[in-house]
Amino acid sequence: MIFLDAAATTPVRRAVIEAMFPFLTNQFGNPSSHHELGEAAANALAAARDQAADVLGCHPEELVFTSGGTEADNLALKGIALARRATDPRRSRLVISAIEHPAVADSADYLHRVHGFTVEVVPVGPDGMVDPAKFSRVLAGAAGADVAVASVMYANNEVGTVQDVAALAAIARERGVPFHTDAVQAAGWLPLDVRALGVDALSISGHKLGAPKGVGLLYVRGGVGFEPLIHGGGQERGSRSGTENVAFAVALATALRLSEADRAAGVEHAIRLRDAFIDQVLARVPSARLTGHRTSRLPSVASFCFPGTSGESVLLELERQSIICSSGSACAAGSDEPSAVLTAMGIEREVAQTALRFSFGSDVTGDQLDAAADELVLAVERVGRLGRG
Ligand code: PLP
Repeated sequence: MIFLDAAATTPVRRAVIEAMFPFLTNQFGNPSSHHELGEAAANALAAARDQAADVLGCHPEELVFTSGGTEADNLALKGIALARRATDPRRSRLVISAIEHPAVADSADYLHRVHGFTVEVVPVGPDGMVDPAKFSRVLAGAAGADVAVASVMYANNEVGTVQDVAALAAIARERGVPFHTDAVQAAGWLPLDVRALGVDALSISGHKLGAPKGVGLLYVRGGVGFEPLIHGGGQERGSRSGTENVAFAVALATALRLSEADRAAGVEHAIRLRDAFIDQVLARVPSARLTGHRTSRLPSVASFCFPGTSGESVLLELERQSIICSSGSACAAGSDEPSAVLTAMGIEREVAQTALRFSFGSDVTGDQLDAAADELVLAVERVGRLGRG
């Protein structure tokens, strides 16, 4: 099998399993317990937080372990928005981009429906980029004083476009608006130093990085208040109650540390392979359209539309040849609606239905991508012929 769906999920790295194993077995303590087992668990959790803080360049107390990227995004949007409006009722606007993951977009929609916030959506260009000047104009009303929180994702999960997060964060800072970025797809491929990026909040998910599904991390800059979403025993300094998942926190920290250590070499290799793959597909499939930005894109993502086909049918043809990819984001899978991300980029509905995403890990080889390109050329031809027939 050639697995080209790493943006959906990744297998757990062996070193990560080894690091977390003791906390599922003999070191099974509850970090809140006042005995040796509990203390060992609390120490492991603190060490995991320190390791993650090291990669993100922040204080350990600025991190909250969550159940994944979705919860981290929910906590950032809802938590910051509700806290900011509680201190100043004028802060009732949310600003997000048009291509956010549903974890952000639907959190904003919830805040609108249930809490009466207004949501302003910053459009993107045909390459999926947010124009900083447009972002600045949307923030401008009352010099940003009425904006509770702004959120623009670091790297898009469907087309891989990478935003100039530092520039956007600087604009938000000038206007005194807290800026959150969803870095779920960026983690492992792009720099995560939150101070250099200038962001106030940043979300990460474990399972895109070689940690298990069901663990994530939210950074919130010290001084930015946020309401907890889950109440109870006051764990995570009151930010997220519930007995801590020590093993998964250790797993996420280990995966973050390992992926950061491999990043520089992995990125170079991936960009070379990605670009060779894109060039091949565009040269050999005359109808193919690259989606997303040509260069400001994740090193690991190549995404296309193949007008005249159906993305689902090409995906199935490829799967028959043991090549695994995605016809949209896995989170939206099962829906027949064309992708909101692609339509926000101005791609016609029928063309958006023909989208395929190829995303790989740092262990992919050039031979695997060449084989995938060969099969893709044949699959697009076959599906296109059937469609016309
Ligand atoms: N944000 C982005 C950009 C994603 O790609 C995903 C998952 O695909 C998520 C958030 C949700 O993360 P999780 O699956 O950990 O809930």
